[in-house]
Amino acid sequence: MAAPHQTMPQTTADAVMPTYGRIDLCFVRGEGSYLYTEDDSAYLDCASGIAVTTLGHNHEGLRAALHDQIDKLWHTSNLFRIAGQEKLAARLAQAANLDQVFFCNSGAEANEAAVKMARRFHYRAGHEERVRIICAGGAFHGRTLAMLAATDRPAFREGFGPMPLGFDHVPFGNMNALRDALGPDVAAIMVEPVQGEGGANAAPSGYLQAVREAADEFGILMIADEVQSGMGRAGHMFSYQASGCQPDLVVLAKGLGGGFPVGAVIARKEIGAAMGPGSHGSTFGGNPLAMAAGNAVMDVLEQPEFLESVRDRAAYLEAGLQRLQQNMIGKIQELRGAGFLRGIKLADAYVAGTLCAALRDLHILTVPAAENTLRLLPPLTISTSEIDQLLEGLNTALGQLGKAAE
Ligand SMILES: *Cc1c(COP(=O)(O)O)cnc(C)c1O
Repeated sequence: MAAPHQTMPQTTADAVMPTYGRIDLCFVRGEGSYLYTEDDSAYLDCASGIAVTTLGHNHEGLRAALHDQIDKLWHTSNLFRIAGQEKLAARLAQAANLDQVFFCNSGAEANEAAVKMARRFHYRAGHEERVRIICAGGAFHGRTLAMLAATDRPAFREGFGPMPLGFDHVPFGNMNALRDALGPDVAAIMVEPVQGEGGANAAPSGYLQAVREAADEFGILMIADEVQSGMGRAGHMFSYQASGCQPDLVVLAKGLGGGFPVGAVIARKEIGAAMGPGSHGSTFGGNPLAMAAGNAVMDVLEQPEFLESVRDRAAYLEAGLQRLQQNMIGKIQELRGAGFLRGIKLADAYVAGTLCAALRDLHILTVPAAENTLRLLPPLTISTSEIDQLLEGLNTALGQLGKAAE
């Protein structure tokens, strides 16, 4: 007997576990800075799949590289050498002024690997007591159990049982609090140079340098979680580079594959040396397809003047946002972030989620973040005329934005 007719979206949507409060929009294709629905309605994508599609959608170089690799070879496992992995590792290590790279598939996984490396480094140096990881208030490092312990959002841990030990939090940007937390049992300080989920919050000037100095003084490693802020997002290959400090470990994911899942940890060779064969692994990590994507993204980011052009266009956006802040009296409390990891923190009477929905009605996609902040994460390739469209949309949506009901 034929099943009674049911509309497809409803029956199949229920088959997906509701871990996200999803918006009822389904895109079928993308081109540059725009996403299109089935009925060909265009949306300006200033979310980039949460800082992932950094080259926009359907980028020619990325598409060609993946097509080429799809025709050759997808996966062999890390039991064998992988040419694309060696190539991308060398490029990332050079860009970060570090030595060796471990590849995996996501940000949380890469952060976990960095924590294991930091602990193992001290263990091999005869300091097995150095296990504590000092994290920042407002930090987001991922959703695995250990990264939940590293993340400063107690609500995310609710009902998930005992957390791995050894993660402590100190207020972001506060050097005195950090120094007070340091001691002979600390393995590493883990910090997002520009916090993403925490509200597009850039470290205050001088903070990262001071973290580096304190780490050196106490014999502690510095881990930069660049999962969101890296790969050109903040106007430099890695956002810590704006401060001139040098971390021991740099963690990447999101933008690294331009839409293909790739995670990576870049480390000093002394840290790599503590990780012998069998010490860590990933079945999928760094497979030929993922490496084709990563290398194609690097091809663009390494072009002379590309990052300079990102900084120029980000400054153009910044100037427009400052004009908006002046015009929308009392609505914007603070402009935050760096490069194309931008935050608009609204005054308490207004709600960032409402602004995000109003922009979506105007066919502009953005992402809310903590601290009542709207995040702008456009592709690094966004044009100035597309930035104008974003600014006009913000002008309209902010102009109409009413106060939250009491
Ligand atoms: C998104 C994010 C992560 C987690 O990445 P996943 O790929 O979702 O596991 C970790 N750190 C930062 C800074 C992030 O923005």
